Amino acid sequence: MERSAAMPRRSITLLGATGSIGANTLDVVRGNRESCRVFALTAHRDAERLAQLCAEFRPEYAVIADSRSLPQLEESLRKHRSRTRAVAGEEALIEAVSDAACDTVVAGIAGAAGLPATLAAARAGKRLLLANKEALVAAGGFFMQIARDNGAQLLPIDSEHNAVFQCLAQPHAALHDVEKIVLTASGGPFLKLPLDQLDAVTPRQACTHPNWKMGRKISVDSATMMNKGLEVIEARWLFDLDAARIEVWIHPQSIVHGLVQWKDGSTLAQMAQPDMRVPIANALAWPARAASGAAMLDLPQSAALEFREVERARFPCLALAYDALGMGAAAAAVLNAANEEAVGAFLDGKIAFTDIVRVNEQTLSALGAATAATLDDVLDAGERARQHAAGLTARLAG
Ligand code: NDP
Repeated sequence: MERSAAMPRRSITLLGATGSIGANTLDVVRGNRESCRVFALTAHRDAERLAQLCAEFRPEYAVIADSRSLPQLEESLRKHRSRTRAVAGEEALIEAVSDAACDTVVAGIAGAAGLPATLAAARAGKRLLLANKEALVAAGGFFMQIARDNGAQLLPIDSEHNAVFQCLAQPHAALHDVEKIVLTASGGPFLKLPLDQLDAVTPRQACTHPNWKMGRKISVDSATMMNKGLEVIEARWLFDLDAARIEVWIHPQSIVHGLVQWKDGSTLAQMAQPDMRVPIANALAWPARAASGAAMLDLPQSAALEFREVERARFPCLALAYDALGMGAAAAAVLNAANEEAVGAFLDGKIAFTDIVRVNEQTLSALGAATAATLDDVLDAGERARQHAAGLTARLAG
């Protein structure tokens, strides 16, 4: 085997630096200082944490999306004696990803709120490390077209998609040789909870994932398995596969992250500790390899690996994602917007955990058939779905 190439130099804009993906990315950067330079760090409102990170990583720019937090960011940067320039607002986010001095963008904002900046990185033709699945789910084929037209290189860092991406990267492999791909799902915190107790689970319980430490929104999505549904839609676009060739298997240990089954009967799987630094290091360095800081697998010492089919009655949100893929071009944006609204209301204690699927299902059946010829049509449909879902959650809360 040839000696592996070192990771080329990267100049990184990290969207969502103060979140869970942000923390994992910066940890990989810490271990690869000779090749990774941070150009810009961004946050929504957490100015103090952003300033702390600027003191450590010394980016050119600190971008705070909510302009009202700019004075606090400036004060915190002074307190930390940081020379990083503070800027604010959506336009500043777009400039930070488009700047010629940045070659790599890590899309780690949570939710469809990340779409404008993530899309701007695709338009600017960057190497785009995608965690923000909601952006791709909402914009679908339009997103992929913009990335292709502008020569952006899309590298998935969702662990399942990164696994499939690695398994697909066979010399001479062709998509028509793929029988199917499989995304694994841990089953989340309620895999074994009696179904009649799901009504009463709290946001805290829903956010306590057995294997992964993540932000609150994706943790709830993992508990409902809407996350896996969004991932199925994400995979449909990333790998250009129809839904019939994308399957989900429950795998409670979260060691095998994704599999590709080839028409000759071979199955390739990617395995790693459930540690987001593995896919992040993989995507940062690709096609080279870089240290991630994660522990190596020790399979003789690990628990037996189990796989089983998804129990549809426990996880009805997964089927909604497949339904959306069979509907109009705006259906995934509608489902995603409804889900963001419903999860927000659940986290605020306004609706029950089991209301999330009700809001998603009713919004999808009311608005999912909308036609959409342009990206703006899709975004408008998402906005209407958000309002529809807000009405439903208000009624459920009352
Ligand atoms: P977190 O909630 O931990 O972090 C979200 C980040 O986005 C924070 O930096 C937050 O800033 C920023 N942000 C939130 N809202 C806005 C907004 N309106 N405008 C600009 N910035 C905003 O989320 P995660 O890191 O868990 O998830 C990020 C994305 O990655 C999601 O799409 C998720 O599905 C995906 N993902 C996450 C994984 C994980 O392990 N966490 C695994 C795979 C995918 P502030 O701190 O100021 O609020």
